[in-house]
Amino acid sequence: MSIPSDLDISRATALRPIEEVAAQLGIGPHLLEPYGRQVAKVSLDAVEEFADRPRAKYVLVSAVTPTPLGEGKTTTTVGLGQGLKQLGHRSAVAIRQPSMGPTFGIKGGAAGGGYSQVVPMEALNLHLTGDVHAVTAAHDLLSAMVDNHLHQGNGLGLDPNRITWRRVLDVNDRDLRSIVTGLGGASDGTPRQTGFDITAASEVMAVLALSDSLHDMRRRLGRIVVGYTGDGTPVSAEQLRAAGAMTVLMREAIKPNLMQTTENTPVFVHAGPFGNIAHGNSSVVADRIAARCADYVVTEAGFGADMGAERFFNIKCRSSGLRPDAAVLVATVRALKAHSGNHKIVAGRPLPPELLAENPDDVRAGADNLRKQIENIRLHGVSPVVAVNAFPTDHPSEHAAIREVAEAAGARVAVSSHFLDGGKGAKDLAEAVVEAAAEPNRFRLLYPDSADLRTKIETVARRVYGADGVSYAPAAERSLRDYEASGFGSLPVCIAKTHLSLSSDPKLLGAPTGWTLPVREVRASVGAGFVYPICGDVRTMPGLGSHPAAERIDIDEHGRVVGLS
Ligand code: ADP
Ligand code: MG
Repeated sequence: MSIPSDLDISRATALRPIEEVAAQLGIGPHLLEPYGRQVAKVSLDAVEEFADRPRAKYVLVSAVTPTPLGEGKTTTTVGLGQGLKQLGHRSAVAIRQPSMGPTFGIKGGAAGGGYSQVVPMEALNLHLTGDVHAVTAAHDLLSAMVDNHLHQGNGLGLDPNRITWRRVLDVNDRDLRSIVTGLGGASDGTPRQTGFDITAASEVMAVLALSDSLHDMRRRLGRIVVGYTGDGTPVSAEQLRAAGAMTVLMREAIKPNLMQTTENTPVFVHAGPFGNIAHGNSSVVADRIAARCADYVVTEAGFGADMGAERFFNIKCRSSGLRPDAAVLVATVRALKAHSGNHKIVAGRPLPPELLAENPDDVRAGADNLRKQIENIRLHGVSPVVAVNAFPTDHPSEHAAIREVAEAAGARVAVSSHFLDGGKGAKDLAEAVVEAAAEPNRFRLLYPDSADLRTKIETVARRVYGADGVSYAPAAERSLRDYEASGFGSLPVCIAKTHLSLSSDPKLLGAPTGWTLPVREVRASVGAGFVYPICGDVRTMPGLGSHPAAERIDIDEHGRVVGLS
């Protein structure tokens, strides 16, 4: 069966005026700052105004270790929000704002899919209300102030070789990864090697996502470390006197954006920190507002549960103080088949036909990954619900195989057809989530702030990833010592590793054992509030493929966008 493209479904949606969408949550027009008719920013006054309202149940959507195609977390997040509404609950969805790099690169849009989408998808995927551009401007203002500081005599004694603050742009441009700035004459700056990252990788983006007020954002921006002096003392944005101006550039960006789904369910879209070197979760302020407006808030964390959910719990919830009541684990037939090791899925290529043939045994053979990810949710005291995200190519016997595995592991499970059927298709899932969220809240963090950085890394590596231990390159050991000495030891850790395996090797599928996590280097996002050990290669500036999505994106004769899939 063929269904219309995501863009066609988005266009065919009967959109409600955003004031009406806000009214579902009891958000009055005095708190809305409309950007056109279908998007509005929500004033942060809402936090205080709603402080006495009851708190919503807080539901995370995570997944098994995904294939390079993604297993449908955003789609399921949206579908579940719609499903809860179908059951008569007030629900709000909270997701990240997509980066435009991947929109024009490989992905072509990240608004969910089918009949579980955020609309209008062109608005979501292209600029939205300009928050990402504000992050770019604030980040690059600090970059300019760093280089100007060198040019004006370097009163703080920054070591030009130890400047860690780079530049950012929301475009996939590999040629900017490593550049030399300051070429020209004596009046043109100080030549040095630096480079660009994608804006989603900016620490300013992570700050936006973790701040809980404008003043908290101001403090966090001030704590950003831009580099070190000759003797290794960190130099902050506050010392460069940049944080005030950066906050001014970000003063609109801190207000969450309100949109709607294909069934007019309210969606907060706010902040888009990278999932590899940052925590990959949408904003704390959006969740705090949503938590006082709805019966259920459903939010997505990037990548599989070992990464997105672990960081949601140990970084985002640690910082916000919000306690999750349930966690959905999206599982697909294709992902579990891939974890069996019998099939290979390559991004940008059609699925191999033998992967689509009915084969519940391969699903069972790949189920260790699902079992481990269920355990990873449980480690945090949260009730897991497995959502089987149904694809048109699945077979009932394969869904039954996932159900068996999930039930044997003690998790609730529901097959969900929200992609094809919208909220109606997610009613069973919504019921399972309501039950799970009604259990007493036993949420716990995996490690205390007071544990040292090595203990934190080793706790995540052993208990969540299933590693035997951790090895550190000499540079990593040195950084850990320096960070503890600089007082950053109380921060949580955001481990940068591949999202395609529970291990640090993307080729190891299922639930690998008998391996060691190799920490190559360690960096700190002191303003955002985490230390990030790097294990393996991490990309902070993607490139474009041989045929990027940009080649297909255009306007038609009516001036409408085409080619966003
Ligand atoms: P994630 O958020 O986990 O990366 P998405 O929700 O963005 O995943 O989904 C990844 C891709 O798979 C999208 O192109 C989406 O439209 C598609 N997709 C997700 N669920 C289904 C489904 N049940 N049937 C068909 N396509 C789906
Ligand atoms: Mg997603």
